[in-house]
Amino acid sequence: MKHRVYDSSGKRICIRMCVSCRENKPKSELIRIVKSPDGVVAIDEKSALAGRGAYVCKSRECIEKSRKNRGIERGIKAQVPKEIYEVLLNFEA
Ligand SMILES: [Zn+2]
Repeated sequence: MKHRVYDSSGKRICIRMCVSCRENKPKSELIRIVKSPDGVVAIDEKSALAGRGAYVCKSRECIEKSRKNRGIERGIKAQVPKEIYEVLLNFEA
C-alpha cells in the first residue's frame, strides 16, 4: 500500500488513500483522523499523533461521503463524534 513518490526536487512525498474516494493522494491533500491508544478520536493536523489513523480528502464531497458510509469509522475502528465531521468540513480546500 505504500508508494514511493518524489517531487521535482527529489523530496519524498507520502501517499495515502482517502477512505471515501479511495484515491491515493499526497498526504498534504488529505486530513488525518486518529484514534489515540487510549481511544480518543482527534483530527491530526500535523500527522504527529500516535494511534490508528484514517485519511480523507480536504473536500466537502469526500468528508460528507465518509460520514454517510462510515469510512473513517471503519478505518480507525472507533465511533467518530459528529463534532469531528463539523471541524473536518472547515478544512475543505
Ligand atoms: Zn477523497
